[in-house]
Amino acid sequence: MAFSYLESQLAHYSGMVHTRDEARRSEENAMNRVAVVTGAAAGMGLAIAQRLASAGNQIALVDLDGDAVTRAAAELRATGARALGAEADVSDRTAVDNAIARVHDELGPVEIMVTSAGFDEFQAFTDITTEAWDRMLAVNLTGTFHCLQAVIPDMLAAGWGRIVTISSSSAQSGAARMAHYVASKGGVVGLTKALAVEYAPHGITVNTIPPGFIDTPMARRAEARGDLPSIDAVAARTPVRRAGTPDDIAAACAYLCSEDAGYVTGQAIGVNGGWYL
Ligand code: NAP
Repeated sequence: MAFSYLESQLAHYSGMVHTRDEARRSEENAMNRVAVVTGAAAGMGLAIAQRLASAGNQIALVDLDGDAVTRAAAELRATGARALGAEADVSDRTAVDNAIARVHDELGPVEIMVTSAGFDEFQAFTDITTEAWDRMLAVNLTGTFHCLQAVIPDMLAAGWGRIVTISSSSAQSGAARMAHYVASKGGVVGLTKALAVEYAPHGITVNTIPPGFIDTPMARRAEARGDLPSIDAVAARTPVRRAGTPDDIAAACAYLCSEDAGYVTGQAIGVNGGWYL
């Protein structure tokens, strides 16, 4: 008889229940975790890093722009937080592994990972070259894969973990002239759900935030290029009548990284002012 999908899933769960002792230990360590945030030089990643630091966590800020994350980490240390900045291109597995090795040396094993590094691009579908397609997937999707694979062993060892990926509401609604971007973010949503199921028995939650239109350097650059309408025009058409801010994303992310969110996994928590319901 064929081994059914359901049976294989139940077999995966057997013997992997997160114990009460582990839960109690997690409670004692609350808000003093080692957190890695990618794309932390600017926009949402920076706001998330600042928010997680103000909640008492130790923060590694990872970004292409090493100088900017070094400065941001110094600013966090000036507030009393433990923080470091590490330069890495998330599409480069060796660079990611080196950054995580540095986090191990200077802060300790990783218990929280937020993947915000990414970029956008606007092109008619028939103009997207294979090179542009590959680069988009390499950063937005494979970069997320690299970062998560690099830290899951720490979370398994701890019996506790929080992962938040930053996807995009465009992966829910679709978007013209963004086929490669939307495909990469749809992949991030699928990756998030797969890992949520795989690691739920180990005390690790995996969720995604698909932001709507958020006022960040990325959005400002798209506005300046004429790829997106003005921030004001978007705000006027948004049900809550304003553009989103990096802090809107950071607040939702902080909740998903908290002890309180232990029963929330595999979810796409839309933070979009009502654009996509
Ligand atoms: P942002 O202001 O451009 O910040 C993103 C950061 O990620 C930048 O510092 C960027 O560095 C860095 N980065 C880019 N490629 C990288 C790579 N290969 N390795 C490491 N770091 C890299 O963008 P944001 O608006 O905060 O966006 C954050 C995430 O939200 C992105 O994944 C984006 O796709 C997603 N998102 C944004 C919006 C929005 O409206 N803003 C909406 C939906 C989803 P450089 O500046 O040097 O490239």
